[in-house]
Amino acid sequence: MSYRPLTPETLLDYLQTREAMNDRLPPDETYRVREVGDGNLNLVFVVESEQDPRHTVVVKQALPYLRVVGESWPLTRERVVYETEALLLYNRHAPGLVPEVYDHDYEMSLLVMENLNRHEIMRKPLVRRVKFPNFAEQISTFLARTLFYTSDLYLPATEKKALTERFMNPELRKLQEDFVYSHPLMDAPENNWNPLVDDLVQEVRKDGELKERVTWLKEGYMTHAQSLIHADLHTGSIMINQEETRVIDPEFAFVGPAGYDVAAVIQNLMLNYAAHFAHTEDPALRADYQGWLLATMREVWTKFAEKFEALWVAEGDRGELAPQGYWDYPGGEADFARFRRHYLDRIFQDVVGTAGTKALRRMMGIVSVWDISSIEDPEKRAVAERFAIRVGRRWVKEMEGIRDIDAMLDVVREETEAALA
Ligand code: ADP
Ligand code: MG
Repeated sequence: MSYRPLTPETLLDYLQTREAMNDRLPPDETYRVREVGDGNLNLVFVVESEQDPRHTVVVKQALPYLRVVGESWPLTRERVVYETEALLLYNRHAPGLVPEVYDHDYEMSLLVMENLNRHEIMRKPLVRRVKFPNFAEQISTFLARTLFYTSDLYLPATEKKALTERFMNPELRKLQEDFVYSHPLMDAPENNWNPLVDDLVQEVRKDGELKERVTWLKEGYMTHAQSLIHADLHTGSIMINQEETRVIDPEFAFVGPAGYDVAAVIQNLMLNYAAHFAHTEDPALRADYQGWLLATMREVWTKFAEKFEALWVAEGDRGELAPQGYWDYPGGEADFARFRRHYLDRIFQDVVGTAGTKALRRMMGIVSVWDISSIEDPEKRAVAERFAIRVGRRWVKEMEGIRDIDAMLDVVREETEAALA
């Protein structure tokens, strides 16, 4: 079927033409359709049977333009192909941590997947100070498995190149290259910031030491084909409940620096931490929740590093970065262990610098995060924004000196003291 955007009225007729839907949506039942896309880019429909709650799917369809901006900003519908291919790969490497894919139709630029109706987008409950006891455990498994199984530590060299080619994703990568790394730090028409923090924003934009580091990080983003990354793993791309965590929306996926996704998770928790200077006035409640956020950020890194290394030791013998036999000599085992540590140290460096860069872009680029933009009083919002900019700036400028997660979080603790002083 040639491409046309679907509507809640036309969707059911379309789905009836899809063989894969026969069992999922038995034709003798009646269905409700809602368009729920709150995202920036695409149409998202929920289809639910009025007779049997198990008969439900979510349909995501790409529009040929960027939804937030409108038809004046064309954007390739190819992005659904990347999203689907990434979800299929994630279902293989991290089953149970992403929605199941039921069907796809690349001509129509759409994908049909599991309805995560027992989960909610993580950003909202984080603002309500809900704690998620399994989150660090589950997201670190997602990160370790997806980043390890798509790297040269696991894949034979030719398979890795094929993966890299399959996920070239040039258009969406360019969006991130511009909107994460460059535009927020220069004069660009789409940038948005609170006039009450203009002094800090202007300082950052002319801070040569910071800009040099961000440029190196951008070079890494553009050239370091290390692992398949989700590349947009903010807390709006995570659906969660007290038991389970699910990652959605990998349309930006490509083979890039492994630290990027880990940075995205930690940085979004930091921005939520910042938001509570305004959302939570009671100091005891705030300290308690911020304490949980800090512990979670710490666990995301430590559990990721442990699991990634364990996978490498257990299953690294297919990979060709260091082929089988390479470390087979007296003392080789210790050298291999040291190399693993250094590899994770380098990922960590990227995490620190990238987390800083991404925090800055949210405070001074095209889009903020709802945690912070939902603070209505501009004075209160400025407290959160100032904090996030100060942390982000230090994570970038001090990235070489910040050697472990405790040092990274010390910056958050020090800036908290400064913010409250
Ligand atoms: P976009 O790429 O346009 O940002 P998302 O993939 O983030 O779109 O989806 C937009 C919204 O649709 C999500 O915030 C979520 O509320 C809802 N959604 C997306 N996928 C699912 C799903 N599998 N189950 C339930 N809700 C979903
Ligand atoms: Mg999206």
